[in-house]
Amino acid sequence: MHPETLQLLTLSILHPKHGKLGDVTAVLVNSRCSNLFLEVMDIDTELFTIGSAIFDKYGEIRPWLVDGEYSKGSGVWGRELNDGKLFFVFCVSVEPQYRNQGIASWALQQLYASEYVHKDDKFLCWPSPVPRPPSEQWVTAFDGIVDFFRKVGYRRVGATAFFAYSQDPDHPSRTKDRLDDFDPDYTFSTSGPHPRSALYDAISADKSENIVQVIQDAHAKDPSCIHQPDSHGFRPIHIAVMSDNLHALRTLIALGLTDDDFHSRQNGDHLTPLEALSGEMCESREFQEIFKREGWEGHSNTKLQLEAMLKRAMGHPMPATDDEYISKKKWGCTCDKCHGGWLSPRTMIRLHDAAEVGGDTVLDDIDEVVPREPMETVFIEFHPFLSYIPLRLWRDMYKTFISGYSVVFRTIARLLSRCILPTETTVLAEAVDNFDYFENKSLKFYFDKEGRVEYALAAMANYAEEDPFDLYVDDEPFKKASRGVNDREFDIVKKMIGLNPKETWGPYSASPERAEPMRMFDSDDSEAEELKAFFGEEESGGEEIDEEESEEEEGEEESEEEEGEEESTEEQGEASTGEEDMDDS
Ligand SMILES: [Zn+2]
Repeated sequence: MHPETLQLLTLSILHPKHGKLGDVTAVLVNSRCSNLFLEVMDIDTELFTIGSAIFDKYGEIRPWLVDGEYSKGSGVWGRELNDGKLFFVFCVSVEPQYRNQGIASWALQQLYASEYVHKDDKFLCWPSPVPRPPSEQWVTAFDGIVDFFRKVGYRRVGATAFFAYSQDPDHPSRTKDRLDDFDPDYTFSTSGPHPRSALYDAISADKSENIVQVIQDAHAKDPSCIHQPDSHGFRPIHIAVMSDNLHALRTLIALGLTDDDFHSRQNGDHLTPLEALSGEMCESREFQEIFKREGWEGHSNTKLQLEAMLKRAMGHPMPATDDEYISKKKWGCTCDKCHGGWLSPRTMIRLHDAAEVGGDTVLDDIDEVVPREPMETVFIEFHPFLSYIPLRLWRDMYKTFISGYSVVFRTIARLLSRCILPTETTVLAEAVDNFDYFENKSLKFYFDKEGRVEYALAAMANYAEEDPFDLYVDDEPFKKASRGVNDREFDIVKKMIGLNPKETWGPYSASPERAEPMRMFDSDDSEAEELKAFFGEEESGGEEIDEEESEEEEGEEESEEEEGEEESTEEQGEASTGEEDMDDS
């Protein structure tokens, strides 16, 4: 999957007389991979750092970079970053003797003009000087690189360390003067001259009820202590929230926190306590989604309780009890309309319709089945519902078996129409004596031949998720059902209806090439190996320039226009050996 998704592009700047003057290296993300955007990038890579700071698992811009009071930065970037393909510009390097002639910006223009790039595509970069200069030169080198990218039209994405470029000359990022671009505010260090007190250490270390007395005693001695920021700008409320200390947070709130405490982001992370908490919850969720086979287990109850406490103290509209809040928010619902906090109204419609379609379409080819013989493989293999029956049962797929499978779908649809969650238990209970003689007989045959309710549930869930016919584009009842963040969360749905994420649930295929498992990459090898495996087939396009053209360039004066990553340049060079001669220039 990765080689089709990620493509390494190396554009060599070749000169007819002087040979190679430098290169531009970029990674093209070909598709946002439905909900696997973050999973296709190996963690611990620059790609993941940039990708996950700006985008969620759907490859869509983080909401706080658009709406966050501070996090949106200058606000020039918005949801248009969700459109088009993404290029991560990793390295723009020019040999030292050829710098200051505009070659780097010229090379970037060649990249934009290349066949790989389309109008809507966006370019991202993380300006950093590599190899790392000695620390006393770091700031100058870094500023120089930021300056270079700003001169060629890149602007900061929100308050992140990353910059982006749009090819549209009317895009807000292109009309914003580079001198007005957003830079993070480092003034917090002057606002928190207090060293970290014993109170901070106690809050971060002691989550027992003892902390209540400790805070009360400290407050009795010096009432201001519960507001004082430490040298990094963090207040006791931040420490209580970040160390999951419920007793401490409750005590601080009871003693009387101010608006300042709740809203202060004059700290190293530039986050208010509530923002810091949401960020942690989001990170922990994504970590589980990417790395745990069982997937996300829902938000932690402790974090949800901290969140409830904070919001209540801040005057947000809240349900009567914290428990109610926790069960509503456990599975990320923000619409308040999700059944059980996870099954959104739109998903409910999709699942119900998919179950009905399943009940009908598994019978489509039943007349082709010869009595007392199983259905021919060709009818099963490409069927959107029949192909969820495991291979070993295909020899038993007689007419009666298929009729029984259809009854399972109809049972599921009946449950969903009454807003009852279909699981093995509820489906079996509903199926008992609810059908006529023949239906009951075929259902019994289905189960006797080891058919399971889960096969139908898996087929239904995947059909609903993929929505192969775009059923809902013009569907009024669907459009009227409220939209929510959980509309796309089919991993939660599958888990909740009893499909263990550690097992595979089809579709199955008799042809080995279709059944082949997804290729995984070994990350233990050397970085060069990793790069090769990661990017698969490498594309290498050389660009030749002639002397006149390069001298006519707008004449960059700074020497910092190079971002040469020594290590990775070598490796990429290795990986592209022999390919550069094949370039089209
Ligand atoms: Zn919801």
